[in-house]
Amino acid sequence: MSFEDLKLHPSILKAIHDAGYTTPTPIQQQAVPELIAGHDVMASAQTGTGKTAAFMLPALHVLASPASIRSHGPRVVVLTPTRELALQVSEAAKKYGKYLKRINVVSILGGMPYALQNKLLSQPVDILVATPGRLIDHIQRGRIDFKRLQMLVLDEADRMLDMGFIEDVETIAAATPATRQTLLFSATLDNAIDKVAAKLLKTPKRIQVASAKTKLDNIEQRLHFADDLSHKNRLLDHVLRDDKLKQAIVFTATKRDADTLADNLFAQGFAAAALHGDMNQRERNRTLSRLRKGGLRVLVATDVAARGIDVADITHVINFDLPKFAEDYVHRIGRTGRAGATGIAVSFASAKDSVHLSRIERYTGQRIASHVIPGLEPRIKPRFQQDRAGNKPNAAQKRKRTSATGYDHRVNLGNADTNESGKNRGGRRGGRAFEYGNRGDTFRGNHSGKPGFSFAQAK
Ligand code: AMP
Repeated sequence: MSFEDLKLHPSILKAIHDAGYTTPTPIQQQAVPELIAGHDVMASAQTGTGKTAAFMLPALHVLASPASIRSHGPRVVVLTPTRELALQVSEAAKKYGKYLKRINVVSILGGMPYALQNKLLSQPVDILVATPGRLIDHIQRGRIDFKRLQMLVLDEADRMLDMGFIEDVETIAAATPATRQTLLFSATLDNAIDKVAAKLLKTPKRIQVASAKTKLDNIEQRLHFADDLSHKNRLLDHVLRDDKLKQAIVFTATKRDADTLADNLFAQGFAAAALHGDMNQRERNRTLSRLRKGGLRVLVATDVAARGIDVADITHVINFDLPKFAEDYVHRIGRTGRAGATGIAVSFASAKDSVHLSRIERYTGQRIASHVIPGLEPRIKPRFQQDRAGNKPNAAQKRKRTSATGYDHRVNLGNADTNESGKNRGGRRGGRAFEYGNRGDTFRGNHSGKPGFSFAQAK
C-alpha cells in the first residue's frame, strides 16, 4: 500500500513526500481509511509506530475542505498527557500541513503564560493541541468556541488515565459538539480504556497493531543487578563510556534524583543535563533543543518529561531506576531504536525490584538478559541468574512456568538455600537466601505464591 492509496489531499501527500516517507506504517494503513470515512477509532499503537501521522494526516485532510460553520474556534483538538508530546504533535501538524492553506496550529500547555495563550486563542485556530488542565482553564473562562469542532483526538489516553486527567478529558469532550469524530490512541486497549471509549466514542472501529513485543524487536534489552547506589553509579559510568553510545537518556525515579545525577555526570565531564516537570517550559525546550542538536550526550529524565522525545541519535536508554509501571518501561526504551534504527536499553535492578521486573517481563512478553561487567559484579546474586542466562530449568521450575514470558518467578522456595543442582548455595557462599515479596517483605522458606525473585546475598 502506498500513501496515494490512502486518498489523502495532494498537498498532504506532497508534505509526506518531503518528509521522506515512502510507505504508510501498519497503524497508518489501518487507521487513515477509517478516519477519512468519518468513523470513530480507538487504536492501540506504541510511540514509534507512526501513530501521530495516523491521526494527523486524516485531521489535515478534514481541514483541507472549508468549515461549514463560521467561527474562530478550533476544528481539530488533540489532547496529550504531557507538554513534550503536545509540542511534538504540533510540530507534526505543521510538518504535514505545510502545503495546506493557512493552517493555524496552537499549543495550549500548562506552565506557559496566559497572556500569550489568550492572544493565540483570539485568532482563528484550526488545530488546537493541549494538555487537559490548561485547556479546561480557558474553557471555563469562555475563551474557546467549539462550535465548528469536527475532530477530537485523545493521544496516549492510557497515560492520561494514569495521570488522573480523564475527568478533565471528559469535561472537555462534553463542551464539544456531539457530532464530532473522536479518536483514541493508547499503548494498550484494556478495560479501563474501554470504559473511557464507551463514554466518549460512537461505535468506534477498534484497531490493534504492533504489540509491545514486536515494537521492541529492534532494541537489545540488558539487565544489570546493582547492589546499591554507588554500584549503580559505577555501572552507569561504564555504560556511558561505551564508544557506540551517541546519545543516551537515563531515567530516574524522582525529579530530585534526575537533578543530582545530571549534576554528578556533568561534574565528571559528561555533556549531561536533567529534564523533569519542575523545570519551566523555556528550560525544558532549551534542554530538548540541545539534545536534538547533539549538544547533549546524556539526558537524565523522569518518565513524564521524557515522553514523546523523538531523537534519532539516541542509541541507549538506561533505566537507572526501574519504572513503577510496565507500560512506562516500553515508553522509556522506545526513545531509542527510532525510525528503524537499533537501540540498547540497559536496566539496573536492585533486590527490591524483583516484582517490577517480573511485571515488565510479563507485559513485554520478553526476558531481559542479565549481564555482568567484569570488575563490577554484583554482590547480590539473583537466585535464578543462571536460569536467566539461558540454562535449563529444573523440573520444579518447569512445572511452575505459566507466565506470558514462559517463565514464572514463583519458584518453590521450600528449600530456600538449595539451588537448581541441589547444592547448598547459601551455605557455600557463607550467606543466606531470601526472597522479596511484592510488598517488599522479606521472608524465608515456603512463600505465599506472590511473584518475586529470590536473591542469595553474601554477608
Ligand atoms: P510516532 O509513532 O508518531 O512517534 O512516530 C515515530 C517516527 O516515525 C517519527 O519520527 C515520524 O516522523 C516517523 N514516521 C511516521 N510515519 C512514517 C512513515 N510512514 N515512514 C517513515 N517514518 C515515519
